[in-house]
Amino acid sequence: MPRKTKLVVTLGPATESEEAIAKLLDGGANVFRLNMSHAPHDVAKLAAKRVRKLAADRQLHAAVLFDLTGPSIRTGDVETPHELKTGDLVEFRKSTSEPSIDISTTVNYDGLMDDVSEGKILVVDNGTLLMEIRSRQDDRIVCEVKNNGTLGSRRHINLPGTRLNLPALTDKDRKDLALAVECDADYIAGSFVRDGAHVRELRDAIEALEGNAQIVAKIEDQEAVKHIDDIIRASDAIMIARGDLGIEVDYWELPILQRRIVKRCHELGKRVIVATQLLESMIENPTPTRAEVTDVSNAAYEEADALMLSGETSIGAHPHRCLEALVKISTRIERSGGLGYGKDSQLRDERQKTAQAAVTLVDSLPDARLIVLTRRGVMANHTAMLRPRTSDFYAFAPTERVCRQLALSRSIQAFHVPFAATIDETIQRSIERLRERDLVRPGTPLVIVSDILSDHFTANSILLHHA
Ligand code: PGA
Ligand code: MN
Repeated sequence: MPRKTKLVVTLGPATESEEAIAKLLDGGANVFRLNMSHAPHDVAKLAAKRVRKLAADRQLHAAVLFDLTGPSIRTGDVETPHELKTGDLVEFRKSTSEPSIDISTTVNYDGLMDDVSEGKILVVDNGTLLMEIRSRQDDRIVCEVKNNGTLGSRRHINLPGTRLNLPALTDKDRKDLALAVECDADYIAGSFVRDGAHVRELRDAIEALEGNAQIVAKIEDQEAVKHIDDIIRASDAIMIARGDLGIEVDYWELPILQRRIVKRCHELGKRVIVATQLLESMIENPTPTRAEVTDVSNAAYEEADALMLSGETSIGAHPHRCLEALVKISTRIERSGGLGYGKDSQLRDERQKTAQAAVTLVDSLPDARLIVLTRRGVMANHTAMLRPRTSDFYAFAPTERVCRQLALSRSIQAFHVPFAATIDETIQRSIERLRERDLVRPGTPLVIVSDILSDHFTANSILLHHA
């Protein structure tokens, strides 16, 4: 049975080579993520090119996702990491100010001092260091360290519950965005998205550069959770960025939030990715912890469109084993059924209701195949959001780009087929492609859905046909 759950892998030093990318493609990776917080431009550009070429060699459609850093705070460069003890004082200062105490580092955001107040907690480096703000001046804050740990260069700082006045797109984001468009990215992800306006600003910036990328909004803090509907509506897909989200909210809220966001994405008809720490221990170890297996299976059970690996594949010791673990766990869960939030999808227009009727029909016919002819991928995504039970779900699109973008959508196997002058011919071509790959036998029932099934006018229609 083909796998429904799509898999996103992050490229990095462990996986940038041609051999590694080829192996990830062969292992079932659908989307390749370049994390612009870490990847230098030349490296990202080369990696994107490799993905495209190696996927084309294999006649696979894999998407490339550029993940922007977004409005987040990082420490500056320190010459040697500081070993900190509980009770130590650490200073964070503007880039133009001089240190006033022994342990001092700059931050990448000069407005930090204006956005915080004494007594607030700073979470540094993914939760490994906690600090409390003791004093605040115009150009610096001094914090008391709450646990022993190490402070290195370019460590991420979270301020749970604080709204930072950083612009939605920083100067760095704009440079990274230009690179993403130059590389013809299929997806661009916005980090620390705060509201729908933030997503629209990103979309305007992509359009201004004449880019074609779809937008993934990363839900990483309380501000985003507050504006979740607005963000989902403005985006093409949502990423539940559990790394930062798990710090920015009380951690015991995280499973509830994950499930709520997955459900809301189903209801509003947008794709959803569950990300971060799915197999964190496998950065070092060759097998997952039992808790990780259970976490991954939960996300697959929730019927997320995709699961994502970060450090596991970018810097980990066992990137291919991690991918294999996701494949194994998700296919096993798919055999046993899912949560079924697809039935809560809000059907807003006739097109969506037609898709619903097609899904009902295909799931009622033994051994039937679901086929969507889709120009821009919209009809295919509507159909996928309804979570058909069948895993024989094929989309035919006239451009490579649409096929690549469908790599993120649950269940869909996309084929590039130039649309013919008549619909009959396009359907014949599509069935031919399935026959070539042995995906249908003579007599197999095919449920074909599209809004282009008429040669004479636009019509949402369903066709039941036998191969
Ligand atoms: P990051 O985003 O890996 O870019 O931080 C994902 C997350 O926060 O979970
Ligand atoms: Mn993050």
